[in-house]
Amino acid sequence: MLGGTFDPVHLGHLRSAVELHEALGLDRVHMIPAHVPPHRRAPGVDAARRLAMLEAGIGDTPGLVADDRELRRQGPSYSGDTLASLRRDYGARARLVMAVGADAFFKLHQWRDPQRLFELAHVVVIDRPDHRQALPAEVNRLIAGREVDTAGALFARSAGGVLHLRLPSRMAISATGLRERLAEGRSVRYLLPRAVEDYIRVHDLYRWQELSG
Ligand code: ATP
Repeated sequence: MLGGTFDPVHLGHLRSAVELHEALGLDRVHMIPAHVPPHRRAPGVDAARRLAMLEAGIGDTPGLVADDRELRRQGPSYSGDTLASLRRDYGARARLVMAVGADAFFKLHQWRDPQRLFELAHVVVIDRPDHRQALPAEVNRLIAGREVDTAGALFARSAGGVLHLRLPSRMAISATGLRERLAEGRSVRYLLPRAVEDYIRVHDLYRWQELSG
């Protein structure tokens, strides 16, 4: 699972998902847009359109799935509930991975019931060149004794481990940066898929009014 607001999806997300799929030999990567993100301001663009951009961005990429399960739930989109739903689909013995970028991992202690996340899945942390900070003590306490160095060690169990991954094509692209560029009328070419750029233009998204409204 790679969850996020995807407001909008960009090549940092998509290339990370492809390389994650490859590096860990995963069956598939479920990219899951949050309906109502619990820990941040409501996105300017509604979940249905963020999902449509994700679908356009993924296109026919092997191994990547645009998964709408959080859109089908009411209320805040807690990752524990999403992992529980994936666990129901794949069964108790499946090896589940929750992938997060380094920025999201730094705030893991603020997520709802972080211990439950480790009961349901492994956590794989993707290095981001634009986010480098020391881990807060609360996160260090949460992951004590869970860290492993290889995918083999991680997958010896079905959940509960932590693996840090430095994927080959690290990209300093953020959705915040893209929204700023779009609001200022600057180019976003080669930062997100052309199909997503076209969707944004056709639907007239991320103009200044939406950002400030
Ligand atoms: P924003 O700038 O609005 O916070 P974002 O670009 O960080 O957005 P999210 O939708 O919040 O995108 O990210 C979803 C997940 O993908 C998070 O775990 C995030 O850390 C990760 N991620 C986002 N951008 C990158 C990137 N360039 N490289 C690796 N992981 C990324």
